[in-house]
Amino acid sequence: MPRFQGDYYSATAGPAPVAPPLRGAVDAGVCIVGAGFAGLNTALGLVERGRRDVVVLEARTVGFGASGRNGGFVFGGYSRGEERLIADLGPEVAREVYGWTLDAVRRIRSRIDAHGIHCDAVDGGVIWANWFKDPRPLKARQSLLQDRYDARWTWLDRAQMRERIVSERYADGLFEQAAFHFHPLRYARGIAGVLSREDVRVHEDSPAIALKREGSAWRVQTPEGEVRCRTVVLACGGYLAGLRSRIDASVLPVATYVMVTEPLGDRMRDVLRTDAAVYDTRFAFDYYRPLPDTRLLWGGRISVWDRAPSAVEHVLVRDMLRVFPQLAGVAIDHAWSGLMSYAPHEMPHVLEAEPGLWVAQAFGGHGVAPTTAAGELIASAIAEGDTRWRRLSRYGLQPAFKPLGFLAAQASYWWAQSKDALKDRVERGVFG
Ligand SMILES: Cc1cc2nc3c(=O)[nH]c(=O)nc-3n(C[C@H](O)[C@H](O)[C@H](O)COP(=O)(O)OP(=O)(O)OC[C@H]3O[C@@H](n4cnc5c(N)ncnc54)[C@H](O)[C@@H]3O)c2cc1C
Repeated sequence: MPRFQGDYYSATAGPAPVAPPLRGAVDAGVCIVGAGFAGLNTALGLVERGRRDVVVLEARTVGFGASGRNGGFVFGGYSRGEERLIADLGPEVAREVYGWTLDAVRRIRSRIDAHGIHCDAVDGGVIWANWFKDPRPLKARQSLLQDRYDARWTWLDRAQMRERIVSERYADGLFEQAAFHFHPLRYARGIAGVLSREDVRVHEDSPAIALKREGSAWRVQTPEGEVRCRTVVLACGGYLAGLRSRIDASVLPVATYVMVTEPLGDRMRDVLRTDAAVYDTRFAFDYYRPLPDTRLLWGGRISVWDRAPSAVEHVLVRDMLRVFPQLAGVAIDHAWSGLMSYAPHEMPHVLEAEPGLWVAQAFGGHGVAPTTAAGELIASAIAEGDTRWRRLSRYGLQPAFKPLGFLAAQASYWWAQSKDALKDRVERGVFG
């Protein structure tokens, strides 16, 4: 059992801002449902375009969902791989669409600076560590990124990996220097603070429970109030708005797990000699990073099932010790899980589902930068009539076939995981 209840981010984010529930009826231009990164960035994008007639409704608290409980990696790209993006969209559009996420990484940095958001940003980059011995997939990805996307990832050979990561586990790796990592809940609260200062109303404990069209306008109801507006943005991630079945049915909520060790002090150097965040090349990869207070944050696994903190600790400690056996006996202070939303096509939904009803969801496990990009696309569409979001129109609201989708998804995770495990055993000669 973790030593402390709750997640590390809530425990260390400091006092939460005051965002009282919506009471009574208000008129607005835009009502955003969900105060994760997708909703908050859309609101901020609108403010930056001169719009103040925005209301944000959050069922729980700002950043309650994936946005305030994730691994904290801020990096480019989408859940759908770069090769498939080119096959889908052609090289030109793929490059543009991927470029939105690189812009988003820069935008997040500049927002942190411009608004003085204290979110423990660590400018250490991200390492993609090769779990397997075969270097070819890394070489191929490095070339593809450089040639087609103008994104430079540096090659790290075995010795360079060992200098940074004290583990026998990895062969080689790629280093994404432009990436960084941060305390996502502080960032989410920081953005909500900017919105409040700009007179945008952010209401916590205000679930949208009904959405009705009235002529060319909308009425969004909460338990104690309602918003009448021209435009609605649904940004509810894996926590599903429950307002339009077609929209909910197009994503699968998928759980992933995180834990945080006790402070390691000098022992951190026995594990990591880099500020970089690390993830590996498997389908269900480990992801981890050093925290400024010398703890190790460790995440991994994907499952359609949520787990209790003690079960999360159990599976993740096993994973951690496979990479860092030297951490045996280290206490785990926090463990938690969160829901990501995946579309079958593994790309986000950034679209107008009905006139005046926008959707920003399905960011998967690669959501910090893409939610920022989506916020820009939707805000500029609403405020300025920008049509760039249509570049993603092939990634629509196809049904995810719940509950059969859950079984199919879990089966495909197990299949992918066992393929990785088999490849690993063959490489290590376990069958030889
Ligand atoms: C454990 C974990 C680790 C991850 N690690 C990373 C990482 O390191 N880097 C990365 O890029 N991505 C990561 N991701 C993915 C990333 O966090 C998500 O893709 C992204 O945060 C999704 O943002 P969102 O705004 O769409 O959804 P969420 O952040 O889930 O926000 C949705 C919000 O909508 C609210 N809501 C739902 N229904 C209603 C309603 N009816 N009325 C009002 N509010 C409602 C919810 O309460 C919630 O706050 C991770 C995800 C998880 C779960």
